[in-house]
Amino acid sequence: MKLDILGEKYKVKETNGEQYEKFEADGFCEWWAKEIHIKDDIGEQKEDCLMNMKEYRNNTIRHEIVHAFLFESGMKKYERDEEIVEWIARNILKINEQCEKAIKGLSNNKGERC
Ligand SMILES: [Zn+2]
Repeated sequence: MKLDILGEKYKVKETNGEQYEKFEADGFCEWWAKEIHIKDDIGEQKEDCLMNMKEYRNNTIRHEIVHAFLFESGMKKYERDEEIVEWIARNILKINEQCEKAIKGLSNNKGERC
């Protein structure tokens, strides 16, 4: 599948291979190739694993997309900053939810001031 990252078309692929061990990651973003790779088996829930693998996979996808957005924005200081990338990946849905709540709340109360 393809994503539009600030006007650039990125391919998103589920793959496997030694690059995941090399990067010590379950996903990676190849900025210059415009590709996001997600390890193809990370969403599989194994019986002895306590992690929610579906949520882990979803967060990994968000994480790599955030890398792509920072790169395409020219945010050189932050595009490789794993801490800020992970913070955004973990919180972007919560931020969006609160933004939408505020926008809807304000739209429904037009004319009402506090
Ligand atoms: Zn990362």
